[in-house]
Amino acid sequence: MEIAEELVRRIRSVIGTEESFVPLHVPEFHGRERELLLDCIDTGWVSSVGSYVDAFEAEVARLSGCTYGVVVANGTAALQIALIVAGVQAEEEVLVPALTFVATANATRHLGAEPHFVDSAYDTLGICPLRLRAHLEQVAEVRNGQTWNRHTKRRIAAVVPMHVFGCPADMDGLDAVVADWPMAVVEDAAESLGSTYKGRPCGSLGTVAAVSFNGNKIVTTGGGGAIVTDDAALAKRAKHLTTTAKLPHKWAFLHDEVGFNYRMPNLNAALGVAQLEQLDTRLAHKQALFYAYTQAFRGLQGVSLFHAPEGSVSNNWLVTLVLDPARAGDRDHLLTVLNDAGVMTRPIWTLMHRLPMYQDAPRADLTQAEDLEARVVNIPSSAYLGSREGTAA
Ligand SMILES: *Cc1c(COP(=O)(O)O)cnc(C)c1O
Repeated sequence: MEIAEELVRRIRSVIGTEESFVPLHVPEFHGRERELLLDCIDTGWVSSVGSYVDAFEAEVARLSGCTYGVVVANGTAALQIALIVAGVQAEEEVLVPALTFVATANATRHLGAEPHFVDSAYDTLGICPLRLRAHLEQVAEVRNGQTWNRHTKRRIAAVVPMHVFGCPADMDGLDAVVADWPMAVVEDAAESLGSTYKGRPCGSLGTVAAVSFNGNKIVTTGGGGAIVTDDAALAKRAKHLTTTAKLPHKWAFLHDEVGFNYRMPNLNAALGVAQLEQLDTRLAHKQALFYAYTQAFRGLQGVSLFHAPEGSVSNNWLVTLVLDPARAGDRDHLLTVLNDAGVMTRPIWTLMHRLPMYQDAPRADLTQAEDLEARVVNIPSSAYLGSREGTAA
């Protein structure tokens, strides 16, 4: 059996043969988007303040299991601000998985801090707590309740668990490491709106979290992001920093630090409000799609469908295949055949330490991440694929 052709056949049995090209993930607008956007235009409230900004912040916070939400221009900006309010400063280090989208590392550098790359786990694709502990025992020490890198002499101020393709990272494992190696936990929840870990929403599992509403995410504002937290002081500082650090005053332009203009326009927030009204339906459709793939891949040799471990519920943002170790060398052939057959398929990200700007950043042994990098691919995952008759078996 040629595995690539067999995969095309089985994936097509789920996604249908009507469309000659099926994208990885498309934005979908089935609700009040048009109505709310027109309301912004008709009322003139299109820019940096407005009722949709307030409504969207409240709803994003609620869906993330948090008290406060601050919406911003994109997820990368959200992560940068989340790191700042969590106490990360320039010249400090942040533990970041090597297996992530580049924004996680970029947000760290944007504030002048240094990403320190750590290994990933097979069961979650997120940070591996066991490997992290072993690494910290080798390179770090705790002084006065803070964790320091003994080699670079920099403080390790935070760790950023990223919930890969919607699958929650092992947060209990991570919390146990952080109990011994004190640092802030800043979730990169860009991909995981709607996912839960032991019944708690992603975004509520650390000190503060960043969410993304980019066009490829489960819901979109065109471009956008949010900082969510239960900490009133952190939320207040995030709002202040992202809105030019302006002090409230009837007319004077008083700013008390170098702030950012990272606001989300009301137009985008209006789109977001309409999108969030459809989140439950979307999650159901994506679950149905995942189930249909599960059925279709029964008995398939050489490749398995990745699923979240017991206790975790993924939002199924991107459906993920993992090639058997013996098939690692077949990945690119498989990508060629599937993409040529109109089944858009993408590899997981190139590891961060291979990118030119991060090749000199400190890093742990990345054996597991390197192995996953060679074997993980995503297949068409749009919600509409799970909404059609017959798919939701
Ligand atoms: C999308 C994404 C981001 C950044 O979000 P943008 O809105 O595109 O800036 C950050 N981290 C991860 C893991 C992402 O997938």
